[in-house]
Amino acid sequence: MTEVERHSYDVVVIGAGGAGLRAVIEARQRGLSVAVVCKSLFGKAHTVMAEGGCAASMGNVNSGDNWQVHFRDTMRGGKFLNNWRMAELHAKEAPDRVWELETYGALFDRTEDGRISQRNFGGHTYPRLAHVGDRTGLELIRTMQQKVVSLQQEDYRTYGDYEAKLKVFHECTVTELLKQDGRIAGAFGYWRESGRFILFETPAVVLATGGIGKSFKVTSNSWEYTGDGHALALRAGAKLINMEFVQFHPTGMVWPPSVKGILVTEGVRGDGGVLKNSEGDRFMFSYVPDVFKGQYADSEEEADRWYTDADNNRRTPDLLPRDEVARAINTEVKEGRGSPHGGVFLDIASRLPTEEIKRRLPSMYHQFKELADVDITAEPMEVGPTCHYVMGGIEVDPDTAVSEVPGLFAAGECSGGMHGSNRLGGNSLSDLLVFGRRAGLGAASYVESMDSRPDVDQSDVDVAARQALSPFDPPASGNEENPYALQSELQQTMNDLVGIIRKADEIEQAMEKLGEIRERMPRVTVEGHRQFNPGWHLAIDLRSMLLVSECVAKAALMRTESRGGHTRDDHPQLDAQWRNRLLACGPADADGQETVPDIDVSSKEQEPMRADLLELFELTELEKYYTEAELAGHPERKA
Ligand code: FAD
Repeated sequence: MTEVERHSYDVVVIGAGGAGLRAVIEARQRGLSVAVVCKSLFGKAHTVMAEGGCAASMGNVNSGDNWQVHFRDTMRGGKFLNNWRMAELHAKEAPDRVWELETYGALFDRTEDGRISQRNFGGHTYPRLAHVGDRTGLELIRTMQQKVVSLQQEDYRTYGDYEAKLKVFHECTVTELLKQDGRIAGAFGYWRESGRFILFETPAVVLATGGIGKSFKVTSNSWEYTGDGHALALRAGAKLINMEFVQFHPTGMVWPPSVKGILVTEGVRGDGGVLKNSEGDRFMFSYVPDVFKGQYADSEEEADRWYTDADNNRRTPDLLPRDEVARAINTEVKEGRGSPHGGVFLDIASRLPTEEIKRRLPSMYHQFKELADVDITAEPMEVGPTCHYVMGGIEVDPDTAVSEVPGLFAAGECSGGMHGSNRLGGNSLSDLLVFGRRAGLGAASYVESMDSRPDVDQSDVDVAARQALSPFDPPASGNEENPYALQSELQQTMNDLVGIIRKADEIEQAMEKLGEIRERMPRVTVEGHRQFNPGWHLAIDLRSMLLVSECVAKAALMRTESRGGHTRDDHPQLDAQWRNRLLACGPADADGQETVPDIDVSSKEQEPMRADLLELFELTELEKYYTEAELAGHPERKA
């Protein structure tokens, strides 16, 4: 029998980023006992890296803003493939979630009259991103951790123990979800430092594990983004939707090679920075797609006036949604107008005074100075696309965040639907707060409504332990595989063949290569023992990376059109037939005990948008996206 440390909680939240912490706070405030588990140090989640801000239509800088405008922008950004109910809840609730953070102690930058300041970002009609310089995610996490501590202090007063009802398990990786009779019964994992096993007995798990960027070679994401939550959910029998949509942020660092992919915040463009090619042209004016014609400035003069007079001028195309800007940069480089190191130039130096740049973009200033020896107050940056965010994720009910598996909830980047085919910058931090809270509430209500709790079956624990330890057993055939070599091949494959621009034959090549990696995977072998052994950790993470990569590749091959974060060179247009079709990945064998099950991709129709939301759009705009049949219900059509 496996030796395992056991804990029992009402709710276990996996992930201590913005979504996870917000879920923890909500479930604890409802009186439940909650564990939060994270594989890095507490406070080191990905959310901490968020720079630009958190989108919420508070209307502090432009009173024209409201939830309807935010909803419209979000749907347009996602090319109308978003789960509209999620987009509605997000737009309506984001301002309250930001204000609530201030009650927890957050300190956002202020306008001159003392309100929370909001900055411009791509695809947002009005200045909408609440921010703290370019360190917004840090403040978000700091504040929510502070709230967690204050809840623990309350528990101390009541129970004499800080951790009586809320405990953090950090540097602890969850490798399996355990079920009984189809319902969640627990989560199994290991302490990264000691390698010892740990079991959480719980009827409700909230997955908040973030994204999948580490499956690509060039990425802004950190080591944690190996798609664990996506894989855990899929293996537990939940569906992943929209996995073909991967966001390549247009501006990552391109030089030196050691820092390639690190993010250059969109806040640089929001605050006045412009993109130029090697000929000095502000090329984005040539890349405004038909669906956005009329909404963006068509001259540099108008674009520049917009920064100070947004009511009477149209916005700069430098701030088109990310998918458009990333593709434009890709084309400029391919056509020979790139910068010396294979990107384009991003110029803030000639646009703002030195002190203003340092005040507004302190992290960017230090990042370039320290990593690339570039002074961004004096010279342009070199930037290019980097894998940044996955729109695809666990399919959940918008209101309760529950997945198809009873007791399994998801929020944040590991969930899917909210952003459709492309996320607008700033809409992730608000997503974490809105749906993190809803997931906490959903899990709490689920637990409160239960008549009986499921038990963890010891044989499932034994299987989970065996699967975790299998990399220590060399294959009988002797031809061992190194996890680092396999990871590198996987990342290169995804980068080169399922990256920003895709083609059927290249995706097929990628699938062949992924198939080969799948065959080699059982032979991955690691040296040494269980105490802090990064090779072993990677061997386990690789299974998730492979699974999510296969989902991305399979769905990308199936969607024969270009939309948002999925560009097919061989199908370059939006296709009406795909307008309302969602691709869902699930395990081919519903039993799901394997560590890397075969994946099945199915197509289903998106639920039609509620009439009152449809009415928020001009018919002429919808005609650019919607099919004739879908538009029949629009009031203008009926009239
Ligand atoms: P995370 O914050 O990544 O947290 C994931 C948690 O899950 C971590 O605690 C991790 O340890 C844990 N975890 C993962 N797997 C396991 C496992 N197997 N077992 C246990 N724990 C596990 N968005 C915006 O809206 N505005 C911005 O300005 C912005 N800037 C960004 C800048 C950068 C550089 C990057 C990379 C992203 C940015 N984003 C921004 C996107 C946004 O930061 C992320 O989408 C968001 O923070 C994800 O939050 P999350 O709570 O879903 O996951």
